[in-house]
Amino acid sequence: MTHVTSSETHSFETIVKPPLEKWAIPPNMANYDAMCDDFSWKQIENQLKLPRTNGVNQASVCIDGHPPEVMKRNALIWIRKDSTTGQFKDETYTFEDLKRETNRFANVLVQAGIEKGDRVFTFLERIPENYISIFGALKTGAVVGPLFSAFGPEAIKDRLQDSQARLVVTSPALKPRLDSIRGDLPHLEKVIVVDRDNTQTDSLQAHELDYAAAMAEASDTFEVVHTDPDDYSIMHYTSGTTGKPKGVVLCHGALVSQSATAQYVLDLKPDRDIYWCSADPGWVTGTSYGMFGPWSLGATQIVYEGGFKAEDWYRLMQDYKVTVWYTAPTAIRMLMKSGEALVEQYDLSSLRHLCSVGEPLNPEAIIWGQDVFGKIFHDTWWQTETGCMHICNYPCLDVKPGSMGKPVPGITAGILDEDWNPVPVGEEGHLALRPNAPSVLKTYWHRDEVYQSKFKNGWYITGDRAKVDDEGYFWFIGRDDDVINTAGHLVGPFEVESALIEHPAVAEAAVIGKPDKERMEIIKAFVSLKTGFTESDELIQEIRTFVRHRLAAHAYPREIAVLPDLPKTRSGKIMRRLLKARELGLPEGDTSTLEE
Ligand code: AMP
Repeated sequence: MTHVTSSETHSFETIVKPPLEKWAIPPNMANYDAMCDDFSWKQIENQLKLPRTNGVNQASVCIDGHPPEVMKRNALIWIRKDSTTGQFKDETYTFEDLKRETNRFANVLVQAGIEKGDRVFTFLERIPENYISIFGALKTGAVVGPLFSAFGPEAIKDRLQDSQARLVVTSPALKPRLDSIRGDLPHLEKVIVVDRDNTQTDSLQAHELDYAAAMAEASDTFEVVHTDPDDYSIMHYTSGTTGKPKGVVLCHGALVSQSATAQYVLDLKPDRDIYWCSADPGWVTGTSYGMFGPWSLGATQIVYEGGFKAEDWYRLMQDYKVTVWYTAPTAIRMLMKSGEALVEQYDLSSLRHLCSVGEPLNPEAIIWGQDVFGKIFHDTWWQTETGCMHICNYPCLDVKPGSMGKPVPGITAGILDEDWNPVPVGEEGHLALRPNAPSVLKTYWHRDEVYQSKFKNGWYITGDRAKVDDEGYFWFIGRDDDVINTAGHLVGPFEVESALIEHPAVAEAAVIGKPDKERMEIIKAFVSLKTGFTESDELIQEIRTFVRHRLAAHAYPREIAVLPDLPKTRSGKIMRRLLKARELGLPEGDTSTLEE
């Protein structure tokens, strides 16, 4: 199923970059074509100086492995807004600090019985302990699953059950959601509670540990467990058209391409940049580029605990003099909506490079960036499965607004027909990649057959549709399946439908992505009601809240329509495509299998 984006309109003029000699700070990649010709992953490995003793453990390289002068640099500036004064408060951690803290946490985990290969999950807010837990766990060789803090019990249960996680690190505010499903998690042995504000320490249960108390007793030295490049490191769950979310497994060796792209796409200059990635650690952008890429280079980054608010974001970037900013189209469109009068109140002259990911970046947003910041947003395309950026716009390359750009040096992308052969230039088809970047997924956790099904003729099939023009620029067209992209988050219709039919009033449910100006798509549900229930505004609101609480704040249907029956095939399968076509006023296509 495809949806047309404004990147289909090729009428925006190409933005031509100034010649290199005019750049105040020259980009790390001076010439795209030359770098493609000379590129080798080995060379990047050498630059990273991967410590041989510990293989490529991501934690050793990102946290411990820097020269002494870099170890003294701030790695993390954590910022929170004071709820009474509205002022920002910060806490800073040098690489040296993080080394000590992550060593301590690794010792805490070993003490709790965690061994290489065990699954350790974090279910925490954007607080320093989330970062410390993730890197501490990586040091033990555990496979780490960061969970988005907005997830509801159903979403957490699916992920913890599937991965058979042995230990979860959480906070008093989030723990009740975990407690409500604990009976369904036979593999979960221990829970570590990070109680920053000292609210719950006395009420811990037998299987729970207090983070601060355990850390206080732990040694700050730890011998990092040896991990090879192919050893599993991070798991992020991603949604498909059918079934529960699948655990995408990335490996320690992914660091090589995460580091290369942080250097050449984000253009990070560790000795001068203050970098901000606005993604949550629960999503792959929040780990690949909110942790691994930038820290492998020794860059300083800020982490903001709060959510989106235009005034706060501008003030944050002004006060902390952010230079490189990686964000998402929905956030950019929300900033655009807040108006230019607002942005003009802030001094954002420190910003020098802006990037975006997650959804098509509409040309208007790129032009807006140029108007208000004097800088354009550089779109980057990738997905959880690719582990790092794959098709991007670069500081040194002219930008065609609406295009995702060109493949990262070292990566080959193609557009394939229905038989998995390349199509002629300019024709639409399946977006595919040669799976040669070190970060491409190793498997879907315990779903190897689904993993294998993604490879055809030596290509990894992304599930997106796109085309490439005669200058090698790729243009996103849409998803090839029913997966919904709402504000940059993929949501599987099946998950939402499953939650809907658990509501006592709902007999059947089907869910589609409905195009939306701000969020790209919103989730729209069609439901039929059980006998004895009548449609009312209150019931609709109740169903909406029910799904929101079970799944997540981003994964509930903003619109719900009640129908007497849902259209089905003769074999009883609900026809989402037909509902979508009707909703959008598009041709209904082949309806010959429709139930009488
Ligand atoms: P996720 O695995 O959740 O990170 O989502 C990856 C999917 O988001 C891709 O397969 C695309 O459908 C979409 N996506 C990510 N970045 C872009 C982009 N720059 N342009 C268009 N779609 C994107």
